[in-house]
Amino acid sequence: LGTHPQLGLLRQLDVGLAGLCYSLYYGMTHPISGPLIREAIQWDAAISTELPGDNDMTELIDLANPLKAAQASNLVTDAYRRARTAQRSIRALSVRERLAYIARLKTILLERREDIVQQVVKESGKCKFDALVGEIFTVCDGLDFLLKNAEKLLADEKVPTSISMMGKHSRICYEPLGTVLVVAPWNYPFTQAMDPIAISFVTGNATLFKPSELTPLTGLIESLLLQAGFQPDWVQVVYGDGQVGNQLVEGKPDKIFFTGSVSTGRKIAVKAAAQLTPVELELGGKDPMLVFEDADLERSVAGALWGGLTNSGQSCTSVERLYIHDRIYDQFKAKLVERAMQIRVGTEAGDDMGPMISDRQTAIVRELVEDAERHGAKRLTGNQWDGQSRSIPPIILEGTTHAMRINQEEIFGPVIPIFRFKDEQEAIALANDSSFGLSASVWSKDLARAERVARALITGNVSINNVMVTEGNHHLPFGGTRDSGIGRFKGRYGLHQFCNMKSVMQEK
Ligand code: NAD
Repeated sequence: LGTHPQLGLLRQLDVGLAGLCYSLYYGMTHPISGPLIREAIQWDAAISTELPGDNDMTELIDLANPLKAAQASNLVTDAYRRARTAQRSIRALSVRERLAYIARLKTILLERREDIVQQVVKESGKCKFDALVGEIFTVCDGLDFLLKNAEKLLADEKVPTSISMMGKHSRICYEPLGTVLVVAPWNYPFTQAMDPIAISFVTGNATLFKPSELTPLTGLIESLLLQAGFQPDWVQVVYGDGQVGNQLVEGKPDKIFFTGSVSTGRKIAVKAAAQLTPVELELGGKDPMLVFEDADLERSVAGALWGGLTNSGQSCTSVERLYIHDRIYDQFKAKLVERAMQIRVGTEAGDDMGPMISDRQTAIVRELVEDAERHGAKRLTGNQWDGQSRSIPPIILEGTTHAMRINQEEIFGPVIPIFRFKDEQEAIALANDSSFGLSASVWSKDLARAERVARALITGNVSINNVMVTEGNHHLPFGGTRDSGIGRFKGRYGLHQFCNMKSVMQEK
């Protein structure tokens, strides 16, 4: 499997890939998706690779904008009114009853995986296999987590009572908050819809979901939910741009769950503060990868390529800064460059990396790379890129400094700046020298050192001898420190963030 040409970037890797694990897990344990592995590698013939051009994109945005700004506020008010009524019927269901809907949803989305992949590929331009693994399997994993754990995690929790209050019984009740507003970006459009919608529903909330105007997945989410038996107002999809998002924020939900850029996150946080709405922000990253002199060379090079380039570098947990120990720097660099040059970019069958989502994102990458080059950085790969095409080849950059924009702002493209470091202290200092703090990876055979470094990094997540894997584990809380956000999503702590944690003390 690992060498099959249709596996996109996965075939570059020999690390313990999340993607391959999902495939094997579902292949072995899931009766419906058993044939998926075989299917995935035969898919190129079956699914159209047509991607939207700029004109099609306008059409998509129009389609996704039934809420024109002038009428939006009435429609938003109406959506909240319907959500508040609908929430009473969700609240009346037990967690077990809500999970029956989630189980049906999981079956339906596996059955309809081709529709889903087709729409995701068409709107976002990502490779088909990335869509299958990065969207459908991850969502299934999240639903599985809920199916296996939510009942236990949402049951009333007895807690000890302080000694001065003997004779009373204390417990925490995990109750719904009411109506949750979910605002999503475009880079994993299906996952970013289904993960929070499922958590919000299982915890008893009604949901208003606003997808990105670039990847509205028009009609898809509603159709899957209806097929699984959800009542139409339990989860309402509200299409529109940032203006509509803003109106939804001002509609005073009981919680805002936002995933997107730091600048939008800041605006939402200011509005939320004024109206005292609880807000969870999952924002950008500038993730460092630290490779020590004793790291497995093959695995760490493969990890750098996967971490820096999957989804064309458009992931919040992409490797955006690669620090390599002085002693292995030259050897590592040579292998990284050699492997990066083998990666095929485009929209044809078997290509490894798709195009950028938009001309705007392409221009950001161009600006940052050109700025770095003007200040003395050198491209080791990717010189053939004309700066215009959305299909950007992997760009390995040498000679950048932390003072350059490219190391301060999120690149969100297939660009990997590389650096040398001399020792552990310098590696930690360089990694922590950022306004972001989402995730990081540490590569070393000395696990005591790797653990020490992991604990010294100011981030929400760290992978040791792997990359980008914490986000895929639904048992772990995911989120950032510093400018990377506020709050935690997924796992026990993430589930409780969607609840009113009510303390009850009882005395006879
Ligand atoms: P964005 O901030 O431009 O848009 C995100 C969403 O917010 C869109 O739906 C948009 O319409 C909406 N929006 C825009 N202005 C708004 C406003 N004033 N009020 C309410 N909603 C508004 O981000 P993007 O370009 O779509 O996504 C890319 C960013 O998302 C990157 O920075 C990436 O790192 C981040 N991201 C973070 C995570 C994470 O879990 N930490 C995951 C994926 C992406």
